[in-house]
Amino acid sequence: MTNPLLLHLTPEEIELWAQGLLPATRDAHLAQCAECRAIAERERKLIRELAQLTRFAPEFGFVERVMANVNVPTPSSPHLRPHTDS
Ligand SMILES: [Zn+2]
Repeated sequence: MTNPLLLHLTPEEIELWAQGLLPATRDAHLAQCAECRAIAERERKLIRELAQLTRFAPEFGFVERVMANVNVPTPSSPHLRPHTDS
């Protein structure tokens, strides 16, 4: 039977680790394997950078929501027309 301590982490397991969800048995391998630690640290850095990118990037629909709150008088919006023509 293969000792799980000797198996390198799969990309899926590294992803789990970055989310803090890696089982303790696999975490033990990470603790003693410099190779996997290097990969895992690189992955975590990447995830952190991605998280920062998404935080600064406008959400989908952001412009639409802002525009909805700005009163832009347009001829096609009768309720925004001045009451001079009634
Ligand atoms: Zn390893």
